[in-house]
Amino acid sequence: MTDIKSMTGEELEAALREMGLPRYRADQLFHWMHVSLARDYEEMRNLPAAMKEMLRRTCEYRTVRMEDRQISAADGTQKFLFALPDGNLVESVFMRYHFGNSVCISSQVGCRMGCRFCASTLNGWERNLTPSEMLEQVYEIRRVTGEKVSHVVVMGTGEPLDNYDALVRFIRLISDPKGMALSQRNITVSTCGIVPCIRELAREKLQITLALSLHAATDRQRREIMPVAGQYSIAETMEAMRFYYETTGRQVTFEYTLIRGVNDASADVEGLAGLALPVRAHVNLIPVNPVRERGYAQTEAGAVQAFKNKLEKSGVNVTIRREMGRDIDGACGQLRRRHILS
Ligand code: SAH
Repeated sequence: MTDIKSMTGEELEAALREMGLPRYRADQLFHWMHVSLARDYEEMRNLPAAMKEMLRRTCEYRTVRMEDRQISAADGTQKFLFALPDGNLVESVFMRYHFGNSVCISSQVGCRMGCRFCASTLNGWERNLTPSEMLEQVYEIRRVTGEKVSHVVVMGTGEPLDNYDALVRFIRLISDPKGMALSQRNITVSTCGIVPCIRELAREKLQITLALSLHAATDRQRREIMPVAGQYSIAETMEAMRFYYETTGRQVTFEYTLIRGVNDASADVEGLAGLALPVRAHVNLIPVNPVRERGYAQTEAGAVQAFKNKLEKSGVNVTIRREMGRDIDGACGQLRRRHILS
């Protein structure tokens, strides 16, 4: 069955034309799905019953169902566990910032990238999410909280560039002026660094922010914590990031998870500065979120600050990511994992 919420406005129009329906019906349907956030065809009051019947028979209307919700007492961060139509579970997070509300979504069920410090990859990869399932994480959070969402980060479970076509379609749909109309400048995609896909993404003419999970400044160190580093060298990855920056004009971000005794020495600061400066990347330092199965420890707060100061002195634009929702299974994949194991 056709996954109707993953279709663009033009595709919808063509599909309805086939059914003998006029263009304005496609506009109404698109509006119901992406602006009114209807939960099903029933709700679409101004559509004729015969049209809804035809849609029910031919087009699947994907939604997600909330299975669990945790609200942080510390900072109001909310973590959601959603069931997909086939019963698979994914996590999404709602966060309040001074610049607006941000939702972090998952792009796959599980992940096959195998980063050593990450909980999302412990059970491997199950399947890709459809564009509609990525949209629905944002839509359902809007329905449930009643809050506006101005920013979306694709930083939940999964490697977005390993689900490339669905990701690009998701970005076009959520930023569609006739839909939720989220500014592409407020969308961040985080990747572990699949080089050919970074280059392809650069050519899509999107205005999104690309964040690279760098986490180490030498190939040897990076290969120890990220299997993808065995496939693409840091040099190749930097070339792709430069291409992205030069083609789109968008500043890129490097994420650097600080792990005690692994990547937090003085030599690492120099290496990181040497990589960030030539492509004028913004560096986001993240104290590693300890995952029980992984055994990595956080760099102490003082040492994190010192690492940041040294980077700044070298001229790098750097921030420390504020930790949110530590009291609610904040780290990637932890809520889902607890449910799968219980
Ligand atoms: N696959 C993508 C996006 C999902 S992970 C990527 O690799 O970028 C989102 C970010 O969280 C990545 O930077 C990832 O390296 C980081 N991350 C994963 N587990 C973490 C942990 N335990 N502590 C801190 N950051 C973590």
